[in-house]
Amino acid sequence: MPDAAPTASRVLVVEDEPALAELVRSYLHHAGYAVRVVGTGPDALEAARVQEPDVVVLDLGLPGLDGIEVCRRLRTFSDCYVLMLTARTDELDTLIGLSVGADDYVTKPFRPRELLARIQVLLRRPREHGPDERSPGEGDPARAEEPARVVGALSVDVPGRQAKLDGRPVELTRTEFDLLAALTSRPGLAWSRRQLIDDVWDSAWVGDEHLVDVHVAHLRRKLGDDPANARYVVTVRGIGYRLGLG
Ligand code: CA
Repeated sequence: MPDAAPTASRVLVVEDEPALAELVRSYLHHAGYAVRVVGTGPDALEAARVQEPDVVVLDLGLPGLDGIEVCRRLRTFSDCYVLMLTARTDELDTLIGLSVGADDYVTKPFRPRELLARIQVLLRRPREHGPDERSPGEGDPARAEEPARVVGALSVDVPGRQAKLDGRPVELTRTEFDLLAALTSRPGLAWSRRQLIDDVWDSAWVGDEHLVDVHVAHLRRKLGDDPANARYVVTVRGIGYRLGLG
């Protein structure tokens, strides 16, 4: 079995069922990832601090500290991608109502190949969104010096991946920030959920487009945005979302 290359992406698998944990570990290891497996929430948090994983595959149903609480605590010190494993589809509805901060969800039972595809999609996601990605010739060399995008009291520094509201930093997950970066890249454009998925997740992402609504809800909450009278993320009925006027 080859050792993962030093530059391999690090995946932390948090799963208390040993057989499933080993299946996932083995599959991801063979796919070239540096994989570590732990079986409890406290071990997951400790491992995440030490290993600084790129992706955490996090089982929702863990003894003691459950996946939701682990994710919340993880978010206080890490902006890694979190892919949550849920045992039933209806758990997803519960998760949707919570501000968990996971980037994606996979429902058990899943095929390892499906999990791998989701991880690959997360890791392929662009870390920056500049205007040059969709408007050739616009601001390319100056991309690193792109001025903050300002919408009312909100300013979004895309290269620095920092959002501020009234001058105070807003703590966003990667997914939330990427959504905001996408929306601010094209003010006035009504984005369909699929367009946002293509831009923020990946065009290869397949699943329930309702996922966009979950992350928009979290983003709005953090921005203090009222969905009924939105200043930053406006619902476009029958379509999706567009940037507000601030
Ligand atoms: Ca479990």
